[in-house]
Amino acid sequence: MSAPSILSGPLPPGSTIGILGGGQLGRMLALAAARLGFKTHIYSDETESCAFSVAAAGTRARYDDEQALAAFAQACDLVTFEFENVPDGTALYLENRVPLAPGPRALSIAQDRFVEKSFIAGLGIATAAFRNVANEAEAAEGFRALGGPAVLKTRTLGYDGKGQRIVRSAEEAVRAYAEHQGVPAILEKFVDFAFEASVVAARGRDGSFLAYDPPRNEHENHILRRSIVPAPLTGAVAGEAVGIARRIAEALDYVGVLGVELFIGRNGEIAVNEIAPRVHNSGHWTIEACVVSQFEQHIRAVAGWPLGDAGRHSDAVMENIIGAEIEDWLALSGRVAGLHIYGKRVARPGRKMGHITKLSPLSP
Ligand code: AMP
Repeated sequence: MSAPSILSGPLPPGSTIGILGGGQLGRMLALAAARLGFKTHIYSDETESCAFSVAAAGTRARYDDEQALAAFAQACDLVTFEFENVPDGTALYLENRVPLAPGPRALSIAQDRFVEKSFIAGLGIATAAFRNVANEAEAAEGFRALGGPAVLKTRTLGYDGKGQRIVRSAEEAVRAYAEHQGVPAILEKFVDFAFEASVVAARGRDGSFLAYDPPRNEHENHILRRSIVPAPLTGAVAGEAVGIARRIAEALDYVGVLGVELFIGRNGEIAVNEIAPRVHNSGHWTIEACVVSQFEQHIRAVAGWPLGDAGRHSDAVMENIIGAEIEDWLALSGRVAGLHIYGKRVARPGRKMGHITKLSPLSP
């Protein structure tokens, strides 16, 4: 079979863009794609994915169902992702059948915290000091080498703080590792940061690169609570943060929007926490505060269109609506702010149910 993984030119309106994953990121990508005249086809293994209801077509199947994947590839002119834990095999299988962006390499790097941190450190970019932990002895040795406190995280499948624990002694590191039933882990030195920030950036098929202004991100219970833009960064530090995102995107030969999560130290020193090879929760404010949102930007990039204006015309605070908070939808609807409700049926604790973005005039 030929490998039609290269788009022959900009994808025309009317084409179908496939999106792997059916959560709120897929939903907002589908809405942005529709505005540019594209149809979208959502592929998800969940029965109640909230992106299904805003897309022209949907496939509900497992990510390793080759028959379903082949039919999906056939139905789409291009495929992209809205979450990074797409199995490697799925991405490689699709890559041989349909143009795919971003490529499987970005996904496989971002899926494994040890591979990801090694890749970033290999580019000469600072991260928390880290050690691979493959057994209990390495958990103890790693803790002694790094010093405490440290954070033990599973190498794969952790997000929003799932699969991670702060440890304060070698014994605790061993116990935390054992509690994960010997799942491969990484031990990171705890970073005493002043605050967290992120860069949401886009790279086009022609190598063009644009970044949104970096927001300051506040977490509660390991979940993003709010993003505030502008972040309290000097121009030089913000420029360095964007430069880091650019080096990462170029090293991956990345196409699409990516998020780079950062720890900012008290003197403006930057350490990369992780890369999200997709649109990012800390970029939701761009829908209201920028001419071209991160969602439209991602669609433009993967479709081979010119990147759009990422300039910000307002200051913004984006707040997630989490779990049962969505029950206040009527009160939220009365606030002078952009309200987004994802249409998820069950409001489990910690589940992102929507978000709200408040704008204010650009600060000088
Ligand atoms: P992660 O799942 O790796 O993005 O981590 C979720 C959150 O845990 C981060 O946004 C930080 O607030 C916190 N965190 C993760 N790793 C570290 C670390 N090495 N030092 C301090 N805080 C961390």
